[in-house]
Amino acid sequence: MSGRREADRAVVLGGSVAGLLAARVLAETFAEVLVLDRNTLLGGPAARHAQLLLGRGQQIVAELFPGLAEDAVAAGSPIADLAAVRHYVGGQRVQPVATGAFCVAWDRSALDSQLAARVQALPNVRLREHTDVLGLEVTADAGRVRGVRVRSRRPGSGVEVLEADLVVDAGGRGSNTPDWLADLGYGRPAEERIPVGRTFTSRHYRLRDEAVLDGDLGIEVAADAGQPVGALLLHLGHGRCVLTLTGPAGGPVPSTPASALAWTRALPVPDVYSALAGARPLDDVVTEEFAGSLRRRYEQLDRLPERLLVVGDAVGSINPVYRQGMTVAAQQALLLREHLQYGLPQPLVFAKDVSVALDVPWNMAAGADLELAGMAGACSEDVEVSAAFLARVRAGATRDPVLAKALLRVTGLLDSPETLMTPDIVARAMGPAPRRS
Ligand SMILES: Cc1cc2nc3c(=O)[nH]c(=O)nc-3n(C[C@H](O)[C@H](O)[C@H](O)COP(=O)(O)OP(=O)(O)OC[C@H]3O[C@@H](n4cnc5c(N)ncnc54)[C@H](O)[C@@H]3O)c2cc1C
Repeated sequence: MSGRREADRAVVLGGSVAGLLAARVLAETFAEVLVLDRNTLLGGPAARHAQLLLGRGQQIVAELFPGLAEDAVAAGSPIADLAAVRHYVGGQRVQPVATGAFCVAWDRSALDSQLAARVQALPNVRLREHTDVLGLEVTADAGRVRGVRVRSRRPGSGVEVLEADLVVDAGGRGSNTPDWLADLGYGRPAEERIPVGRTFTSRHYRLRDEAVLDGDLGIEVAADAGQPVGALLLHLGHGRCVLTLTGPAGGPVPSTPASALAWTRALPVPDVYSALAGARPLDDVVTEEFAGSLRRRYEQLDRLPERLLVVGDAVGSINPVYRQGMTVAAQQALLLREHLQYGLPQPLVFAKDVSVALDVPWNMAAGADLELAGMAGACSEDVEVSAAFLARVRAGATRDPVLAKALLRVTGLLDSPETLMTPDIVARAMGPAPRRS
C-alpha cells in the first residue's frame, strides 16, 4: 500500500482482534487512527478458553505483523503444521497429513496483548482504553456519520465527541449499531440465528511432561449426534496447556475439576484423558454459554449512513467450536484494505463484500450445527447438501490422507469449499471405501 493520507481520522470501536486488525490496515491510509475500548487492551485479563487461530488467520496475521509469530515462538509458543492439532471425528483420527500451513498455538491473551502492542507502536495509532462508546454523531440529515460520543470510565468524566472521517464498529456480538441505526431512521439489519448453543468449560493445566503430546500442538475431539461433548486441548508452551470442553447449551456442565476430568474420560478417544494424567491444574474451571450463531444482514438494508463500517463478530458471531471468528475478522481486515485503495469505502458495498466472504464460514458452521442438532431441514437446500457432503469428506478423512489434507485446508479457511468438488475428491468422499493415496 502507498503511504497516502486520504483522510484525517478513523475511529475504531472495539480493540479486540477485529478492531486491532482493522486499525492496522486503516493506519496505512489515515493520518490518525483511534481505537476505543471499554476494557484493558494491553495486558488485560487472561482469556480462559482454548482458542485456535485457523490456518488462513495465521497467514494474515503474519502478513500484517511480520515477526509477531516468530517472537511468540521464541518466547515458547509451539509451532507446527496445522495437522499437528490431532482431530478426531466420530472417534476416529483425521489422517495426520501435512497441510503446508503453519499453526502457532497462541495463548489468546498473549495474542490480544501482542496485537495491541504492535498496533499501538504504529506512529499514527492511539489506543484509548476504559472508554465507553455511547453513540454515533451524524450530520443534520443523518446521512453521514461524523464521529462518536464517548465517556471515559475515569470517575467524574463527562461525555465527549470525537470527530472521525470513518467509524468502524468492531464492538463484537453485543454491538449497538443496530439500535443506533434504528434511532437514526435506517431500520435494523435483519438477523439470522442458528439456535444451536454450546457451553464452554475451560481450565489451564501444567502437563506432567510435554512429551505426552508427542510433539503435537493439541487434540481436538469433535462432538457429533451420538456424542454431544467436544474437547480442545491446546499446548501453549513450556508444558502449559488449556482444555476446553463443550456440551449442548443448557445441558450439564463439568463445573468442578473432578467432573471436568470425568468428562475427558467419557470422550470416545483416550488421548485427552491420558495427556492430562498427572497434570497440575493452574486455575479454576470457568464456564461460558454461547447462545448460537448470529448474523446481521447489513447488506440487505436499503441504505446505510456514509462513513460507517461494521466488522467482526458484530456482523457474524459464529459458533466457536468451528474456531473461525478471528480468521473471519482477519479476512475482513484484508477486504477493508482492498476497499481503502479506492478511497473511503461505501458502507453498503463494503457490507455486501463482507457478506459474500462470510457466506463460506457461516454456511459450513450452520450446516454442521443444524445437522448435529438433527435440524438439517432448517437450512437452505444448498447448505444442507454441502453439509452432508462435508460430513462425508470428514468421515473419509479419517482413512484417506488426500481427503484429510483437503478437509483441513478448507476448514482452516485456506482453500475454498469448491476445491472439494474435483472428481477425485468427490469420488474419494462418496465412494464406499475411500482409497489410500
Ligand atoms: C468461548 C469462545 C471460544 C472462542 N474460540 C475461538 C477460537 O478458537 N478461534 C477463533 O478464531 N475465535 C474464537 N472465538 C471467537 C473470537 O473470540 C472472536 O471472533 C474474535 O474475538 C473477534 O471478535 P471481535 O473482535 O469482533 O469482537 P470481541 O472479541 O467481542 O471484541 C469486541 C470489543 O469491543 C469492545 N466494545 C464493545 N462495545 C463497546 C462500547 N460500546 N464501547 C467500548 N468498547 C466496546 C469490547 O470491550 C471488546 O473488547 C471464541 C469465542 C468464544 C466466546
